Amino acid sequence: RQRKVRLPTYPGLERYEIIKKLGDGAFSNVYKARDIRTGRKVAIKVVRKHDPDVNESHLHPSMKKKPRATERANILKEVQIMRNVKHGNIAQLIDFTESKEHYYLVLELCEGGELFHRIVRLTYFSEALARHVITQVAQGVRYLHEECGVVHRDIKPENILFDPIAYIPSSPHRRRGYGFDENKEDEGIFVKEVGGGGIGTVKLADFGLSKVIWDSSTWTPCGTVGYTAPEIVRDQRYSKAVDMWALGCVLYTMLCGFPPFYDESIHALTDKVANGQYAFLSPWWDPISDSAKDLITRLLCVDPNERYTIDQFLQHPWVTEKPFLPNNMP
Ligand code: ADP
Ligand code: MG
Repeated sequence: RQRKVRLPTYPGLERYEIIKKLGDGAFSNVYKARDIRTGRKVAIKVVRKHDPDVNESHLHPSMKKKPRATERANILKEVQIMRNVKHGNIAQLIDFTESKEHYYLVLELCEGGELFHRIVRLTYFSEALARHVITQVAQGVRYLHEECGVVHRDIKPENILFDPIAYIPSSPHRRRGYGFDENKEDEGIFVKEVGGGGIGTVKLADFGLSKVIWDSSTWTPCGTVGYTAPEIVRDQRYSKAVDMWALGCVLYTMLCGFPPFYDESIHALTDKVANGQYAFLSPWWDPISDSAKDLITRLLCVDPNERYTIDQFLQHPWVTEKPFLPNNMP
């Protein structure tokens, strides 16, 4: 039974025709839309502005909205970061506008949806497919870390999106490889084939929490560390290493279909993460290569100083291994 969904109209967004809802969060809705003038399809993230009349006392502190002025300053800072970020593996900000009630972020559309949904559908990825995906995410991360001085801080399957075109079969007997089959699109994934052996363009989205690490209001400019107290220097909250940990969690999840850390109790889960308590559980991890496990071990390393950097990640043998080319690849 099809449910008829009424799509909202937003003042200030007349230039776009909203087609459907793509996702939603606590304070934002994301829509697929069409630029009426150019015909270009885009994604529009609509962020509700703070409403002083809404009682938020029941919300977790992290969910509470800041006063409007602070909120606006933060949003504009994020937009400024996003405007300067231009990379093939990052969902590009196309435009930014606002109205009385909302902020609008017009983004490059990634039609393939979330990596999260792909994992749910496939149960897990072959090592070859996981490599193709994680390498692209890592290229985006490398660009952010090394060229922009930005830490993403919210890397997870829901924020890793796809651009569709080619087909990856989901049937178990072909899981160790991939190919094309246009007639069976509903069974698999559509991703764009990239130069010869690659499959699909993967894009990192959602800069909602990202931070420029040299932002002077929250962090110390790198050049003046000489005068900074140890407890501030040691503060790892915004360090690049948090993205590397997340990369390890994503890779783990792709390879076996469940996350490295899980517990129904938030306290127990926090303990497990804090102590780096995870395992390569049998039988799920039995067929997976030692090289993949070694890489995950170096990412899920509790001490951020020992954790792999993005360059070490990209040089690991599992990542540099030749891509697996199935016979039916054109
Ligand atoms: P939130 O801050 O609410 O997590 P996101 O930016 O992650 O906001 O967007 C929420 C969801 O909307 C994503 O998980 C994804 O499903 C969808 N989405 C976001 N940006 C795009 C995009 N550029 N193309 C396609 N879908 C998107
Ligand atoms: Mg998100």
